Amino acid sequence: MFSFRMVLVPHCRECRTDVLDDDGRPLYVTARLLDPALHEQLTAQGWQVTPGTPGINRGPKDGLGGDQLRCPACTAAQRARADDARRRMAASDARPRTKVLDLSVRLGEGWTLAQRDGDAAVHRWLVEQDGAVRGHVNRYRRTNGSYSDGWEARCRTGTGYYRVDAITSCQHRTHSSFLWSARDLAAWGVATAPRHSAPRPAWARRRTTTTPEA
Ligand SMILES: [Zn+2]
Repeated sequence: MFSFRMVLVPHCRECRTDVLDDDGRPLYVTARLLDPALHEQLTAQGWQVTPGTPGINRGPKDGLGGDQLRCPACTAAQRARADDARRRMAASDARPRTKVLDLSVRLGEGWTLAQRDGDAAVHRWLVEQDGAVRGHVNRYRRTNGSYSDGWEARCRTGTGYYRVDAITSCQHRTHSSFLWSARDLAAWGVATAPRHSAPRPAWARRRTTTTPEA
C-alpha cells in the first residue's frame, strides 16, 4: 500500500522565486508551516518570513494558514519603497507653514492647526502636536468639485492615514456619518480619538440660552 504525501516548494509570494536547497535545487517540504530551523536559515539569507496561523493550517494545499515568504530581492524593493514614502512624507511635512492657529485651549497643550502653500485652496489643515503632523482635516470635496460644509478627518499612521469618522454628537448630517460638523471638531477627533458615544466637547456645546438678550 502506498502512502502519498503532498509536497510543495516554498516560494516568494511576490515573484514566486523558489527556495533552493544546498545544491541549488528547489526545496521540497510537506507543510506550509515551515520548521523553525528552515525559518532561521531563510531569515539569515535575507528572506522575510511572515509566520502563518497553525490553527487554520490544513496541509500543503492550504494557502491561508501557512507561512508567507518574501525573497531577499522583493524584501529589499519593499524596503526601498517604504523609505521613499517616508522621504516624501518628511519633505512634505518640512514645507514652510503659511498660517498656524493655536488650538491648545480646545485640543490641549501643544496642538495647532497649520497650512502650507496650497492647503488653503483645498480647505486643508494639518493637525499638529508640538510641530509634528498627527493628521489632517479638510472640507469634503464633492464629486462635482464643490466643497461641503462638513469636514473629513484623517489620522496619520506610519506613512499612511486612516479616516476618523465623526462621532454621533458631532456629525455634519445624520446620514453622512463620516463628516464632522466643524473644522475644530474634526481636529479634536484626530487629537483625542473620542468614543463613538462621547458628547460634544464643552467648547462646542450649543448654547441653550433662553433669556432674550438685552
Ligand atoms: Zn520575490
